[in-house]
Parts: sequence; C-alpha cells; structure tokens
Amino acid sequence: MKKKVLCLAAAAVCAVSLAACGGSTAETTAAATTAADTTAAETEAEAETEAAGGQLIMATNAEFPPYEFHDSSKTGPDGSDIVGIDAEIAGAIAEKLGKELVIEDIAFDSIIPELQSGKADIGAAGMTVTEDRLLNVDFSDTYATAVQAIIVTNDSEIAGPDDLAGKKIGVQQGTTGDIYASDDFGDENIDRYPKGVDAVQALVQGKVDAVIIDNEPAKVFVGDNDNLKLLDAAYAEEEYAIAVKKGNTELLDQINAALKELKESGALDEIVGKYITAE
Ligand code: GLN
Repeated sequence: MKKKVLCLAAAAVCAVSLAACGGSTAETTAAATTAADTTAAETEAEAETEAAGGQLIMATNAEFPPYEFHDSSKTGPDGSDIVGIDAEIAGAIAEKLGKELVIEDIAFDSIIPELQSGKADIGAAGMTVTEDRLLNVDFSDTYATAVQAIIVTNDSEIAGPDDLAGKKIGVQQGTTGDIYASDDFGDENIDRYPKGVDAVQALVQGKVDAVIIDNEPAKVFVGDNDNLKLLDAAYAEEEYAIAVKKGNTELLDQINAALKELKESGALDEIVGKYITAE
C-alpha cells in the first residue's frame, strides 16, 4: 500500500519511469484516475494505524502447515485466511507491541530480500537460523526446534539419509532441505518446487524418490497421502526464529521481550498445542 501512495505522490515521475515505481501500466493508470479519492482514504487509514502504533508487516510463505497456511474456514490474526503457529505468534507479538499485524504471503526465498528492502518488518515462516542467513538478517531467540525429515513412498527401499545418495530428491526451493541436500547429494539430484506440497505431489507421481522437508509439514503431508511414510531417521536438526532486517535491534529487542513473555505465560505452548498434538 505504501508503494502505491508513493507512486501517486510522484505521478509525473511514474509516467516517465513506471518500472522505478514497481507498478504495472494498468495498475498505475487505474490508480491515477482515482488518485484524489484513494490518496485521501489511504492517508486517513494510515493516520489511524499510525495512531495505534502502526503496522507490523510479516513476510511468510503460507504453504507450510501447521506454521502458516490458508484455511478458508478460518480468520487469521490479520483478518485474512492465513492461520498457523507463526501467524498466531506474530499476532500475539503485534498485540504486545500495539501494532496491527499484516501478513504478506510470498515465495519462501523472497522473505529475506523483503526484509532487506524494508518492505516487511519480520519474517516468520518456520525459518531456520543458519550461518548464511545470519549474514543477511538478524534472528530473534528461537521458539521451536525442528528436524529435516525424509518422506518416501510406502514401498521404498530408502530407509535413512545414507540411502539417498544417487536418488532424486524433491525439496521446497530455498529451504534448508534444499540447501543441505544440494550440498550432500549434488545439485543434479535435487528437484526444486515452489511449495513443499508440490514436492510431495512429485513423489506421489514417481518423479522423485524422496522429499526432504521440515518434520511438522511432513507429518501433515504424509497424513494426507496413504501411500507415503515418514522415515524415523531424521536428516538434520534445526531451530526456528523470527528474522528482522540486519541491524534493527530496536525491533529485535521488542520481539525477544514479547517472545519471552509468551513463553513464560504459557501462551506460546497454548498456540503450539492448538496445531500440534503431543505424541
Ligand atoms: N525451516 C526451513 C527453512 O528455514 C523451511 C521453512 C519453510 O519452508 N517455510 O529453510
């Protein structure tokens, strides 16, 4: 929304250089015709939000149940149909910060660039803390542990990570499953998909021999497919945290303080318990 307002303010510049404003021709033309109305309405809306502490924009990829996913039968913490553990944690943090949560659903590997450019404030996406990512963003305290799990078909001979050598492995693009498996088994053996569920579909169709993905979504996907099983042997262990733009210590401190409160009050466990039943 901010982008559009800026674009309108610089309408003349936009007409000359649409690309610079990031809007399509149709969008810009349509926006220009209703410029006066929209600007007034948006200014008013933004003033209201500002008075209430502003927005907390969360970038995520809502294809990762039970952490973030679309459920058309529910209303999530930002009023959209995006629900899940991360969505609710972010909602609770926003509330503590007196801000309005806005969730942006984008490709997983666009989340860090979105934070770097300042278009989003936080990345909450079952995001694993890695050394490489720490070069580009800062991470909050961790709020969950996870493992990279291996999914195969029921009749597969693959019984653990060692059997994956030379096999075709499906992953979600840009995730730790992708990064680790590419390192260990060679780029040529990895098939990347935009969503984890697409990788799982490729496994069902026999296009890949195994899928490496975080254990909680893995459980959900296996639960939806009778022909698939989850191997006991995990591939890697990791920790999830919330990412912010590098150097944004003010926000990071606020998030860590809020997370601490949520942990101590039991609210975090309560959120997790809504989505993950203890085994
Ligand atoms: N935990 C994995 C990662 O951080 C996958 C996250 C996701 O797909 N949303 O790369």
